Amino acid sequence: MTNLSFSSLPISAAQTENLDSLGYKQMTAIQSQALPHVLEGRDIIAQAKTGSGKTAAFGIGLLNQINPRFFGVQALILCPTRELADQVGKEIRKLARMTPNIKLVLLCGGKPFGPQVGSLEHGAHIVVGTPGRLQDHLRKGNLKLDGLKTLVLDEADRMLDMGFYDVMLEIIQQTPAKRQTLLFSATYPDSIKKMCRSILSDPVTVTVEAEHQLGVIDQVFYAIKKHERDDTLLGLFEHYQPESTVVFCHTKKQCAEVSLFLREHHILALAIHGDLDQRERDQVLVRFANNSCSVLVATDVAARGLDIKSLQAVINYELPRDPDVYTHRIGRTGRAGEKGLALSLFTDNERIRVNGIEQHQNILCHCEYPASLRRLDDFDLQPPMITIQLDAGRKNKMRPGDLLGALTGDAGLKGSQIGKIDIFDMSSYVAIEHGAVRKALDYLARGKVKGRSVRARKIT
Ligand code: ADP
Ligand code: MG
Repeated sequence: MTNLSFSSLPISAAQTENLDSLGYKQMTAIQSQALPHVLEGRDIIAQAKTGSGKTAAFGIGLLNQINPRFFGVQALILCPTRELADQVGKEIRKLARMTPNIKLVLLCGGKPFGPQVGSLEHGAHIVVGTPGRLQDHLRKGNLKLDGLKTLVLDEADRMLDMGFYDVMLEIIQQTPAKRQTLLFSATYPDSIKKMCRSILSDPVTVTVEAEHQLGVIDQVFYAIKKHERDDTLLGLFEHYQPESTVVFCHTKKQCAEVSLFLREHHILALAIHGDLDQRERDQVLVRFANNSCSVLVATDVAARGLDIKSLQAVINYELPRDPDVYTHRIGRTGRAGEKGLALSLFTDNERIRVNGIEQHQNILCHCEYPASLRRLDDFDLQPPMITIQLDAGRKNKMRPGDLLGALTGDAGLKGSQIGKIDIFDMSSYVAIEHGAVRKALDYLARGKVKGRSVRARKIT
């Protein structure tokens, strides 16, 4: 039986008090399995889902190692995105409350360089950042890592998905060989195994299957008349303006109709259903995952096996008869420690399905009418990125770094204007910010990637 009390750990009484004041009464599963090893100084490979309390699992460990009187970077945390880095920074600041003179600096893309350099000059004990920006600071000599004790790779699988492998290695090479490395990942694909072999030494592996907490999902049910379904769906988008949504439908035909209807109303939606061939399906998923399409309209079957990291909203265009299917659908939102949103439409005839959900979850459903939705006159839901497809892929030895290099080098794009890169056998996809698409396409039309001309086109 594992002891779940923080006081069973070799940490200061001040820290246990602090944790208590944060309302952390006992350790989460990942914390109780990882922290004893982390505090012993071991390297760790931890596999755990979002929302399982990973930040404290490494945060308490790295804070324990920090010497506030030494003004150098002693802990470095790599995160895939600015938002995640922000979250981690906030959480660590809370965990560090009992030692007020510990300084934490965030180094993320999309923020001006100057103030970051300034903060580093004032001395930072802990740095949290995204790979691209950290690499920039290292190359410019603003950041020194030779006194580093703890290196954390948070959501390592996502960083690899985003094509950061080489950048991560370049950063890691500048840290002392004798360091503690803590790697966290929700999944454990071959790419992670490979990375682990080269950067961890004699690691302990811990795996925790976190159960999804339905409590973090706001569930709202809209009572509609049969003819109000489409218009209320639009109303949901106007009112909530979710950044990423899956709309669930029953049939392929419904998927096609609903996505067409949304596109006619300036919401860039793509349908995913069993009739798509592999290439079409890949394209849809690539565009959804790289933020160049914010709405997916799917059947349950097509959504199976969809590995979507964090979804802001799930909409049930029609409620399923089986409450288990409902629970499964809405479990795709509210993952990244964020609050999820599950919106459902139901007619009088379908009220019995709402009752079934109430019994199944042992809750009273929050019901509303479409009239409560704030409507907008000219609404336009445009995703932040556009996908460019290139006619060269893995078979042409194309790697994410080649594309990133060409676009940030010769083409002159900023790293922050380039999103996810996906490489398939015969083609590649790169997400580019709207404002930089012209520049990227112009370059690709004449310049070269990996010494060869490629054909590139925008997918819309
Ligand atoms: P993850 O990185 O695994 O997605 P986080 O570290 O962001 O998860 O933690 C999720 C939430 O749980 C945060 O709001 C955090 O403050 C809270 N939390 C973490 N550990 C505990 C604990 N032992 N007791 C209560 N809440 C906790
Ligand atoms: Mg996290």
